[in-house]
Amino acid sequence: MNYTYRIYPTAKQQALMLEWLETCRHFYNRCLRDLKDWIASKKCSLYSCSMIREYIMSPEIPFPSYLEQKRQLTQWKKENPYYQEVHSQVTQDVVKRLHNTWEAFKKRGFRFPRYKKYGRYQSFLFPQFKENPIKGNSIKLSKIGEVAINCHRPIPEGFKVKGVRIVARARGTIWYAVVTISSDVNVPDPIPFGRGIGIDIGLESFLVTSDNFRVEPSLFFQELQSRLKVLQRRASRKTKRSKNWEKAQLKVARLHHQISNTRKNFHFQTSHLLCDMADMIFVEDINFKMTARGFLGKQMLDGGFGQFRDLLSWVCWKRGKYFAQVNHKYTSQICPECGTYTGKKELSERVHVCGECGYQTSRDHASGRVILQRGLESVVPMDCRERKPSAECVLPGIAISRQVQRRKLSA
Ligand SMILES: [Zn+2]
Repeated sequence: MNYTYRIYPTAKQQALMLEWLETCRHFYNRCLRDLKDWIASKKCSLYSCSMIREYIMSPEIPFPSYLEQKRQLTQWKKENPYYQEVHSQVTQDVVKRLHNTWEAFKKRGFRFPRYKKYGRYQSFLFPQFKENPIKGNSIKLSKIGEVAINCHRPIPEGFKVKGVRIVARARGTIWYAVVTISSDVNVPDPIPFGRGIGIDIGLESFLVTSDNFRVEPSLFFQELQSRLKVLQRRASRKTKRSKNWEKAQLKVARLHHQISNTRKNFHFQTSHLLCDMADMIFVEDINFKMTARGFLGKQMLDGGFGQFRDLLSWVCWKRGKYFAQVNHKYTSQICPECGTYTGKKELSERVHVCGECGYQTSRDHASGRVILQRGLESVVPMDCRERKPSAECVLPGIAISRQVQRRKLSA
């Protein structure tokens, strides 16, 4: 589990930490360089020699693995005393970070690790602590010293601090400490039970549940966006790298930071709201990033739907609610009432009208219900599956909720 705290380093500490980040960035890029060179040396084809370029490297040189590069790191540190100022465990983690990205790349086949430009390396990690570094209103970091911290919630009993990641935001003017804590107690994963809801994450409303409960995107957010546009325009008019340009850039960065915080806050509140309403929550397994590349573009990214889904699953886990993703295919093309395929809907078509049974509702509500049905199918035991969850409820929680609904309707 991670707890994030705002920290307030002094000007001197801030300068030092920025220097550390730069050193880490250098190490990262140097290790990546070696990795790339090694790969390039293996690339040349067997039977022909490309006339343009060829990497010649002795075949004995081993693959720059994590351990190999860690050894290399010590070498570099010996050569340059400037590098020694950074804590050794911190620099070792840089190599680990590179190799994590590399392993992830090998697994999914895209997003090769990239060089980090100036200012793009924004965090470093202290991977080990003997005891809790937070005492009162300060956190003790090796080689940096005591840093003021806003400890808005204490670390719970029985938890140990595993590592602390220092994160720089808004061009190194806002700092956070992300504290990873763990306990030996195993928390079991929530089991499916009780009342379920399906959630259609969409464009018109932020989301619609299978009960036709809508969450609208917050207006405050739009306001921030338009303010961002103004600031960006102003910043673009300044001479690059001038003092005023720096100032304007900082303003933009700070607003970006505020927007991302506001969005996260909104996502948290919505997640908790949903958890209040149900015991099981189902969402579609859409790859939002892929969708965002297409025609829906920026609008999708603005909502941060992927982040919301991750947060929701985390909040569900924390509150003991069951969370699952269901197949997203044709969710908007099936009638939730009778299950017939109603054909593809255009994006502009906002209502669902079934030609078979005449069921009529808004499009997102219909797909929310389909998502719920799919979710229930995946968790309900076999013998119950024959009955349609929408018609006769098999799960006790839902039956009760329907009674409540009916009572509400009759009242
Ligand atoms: Zn129908």
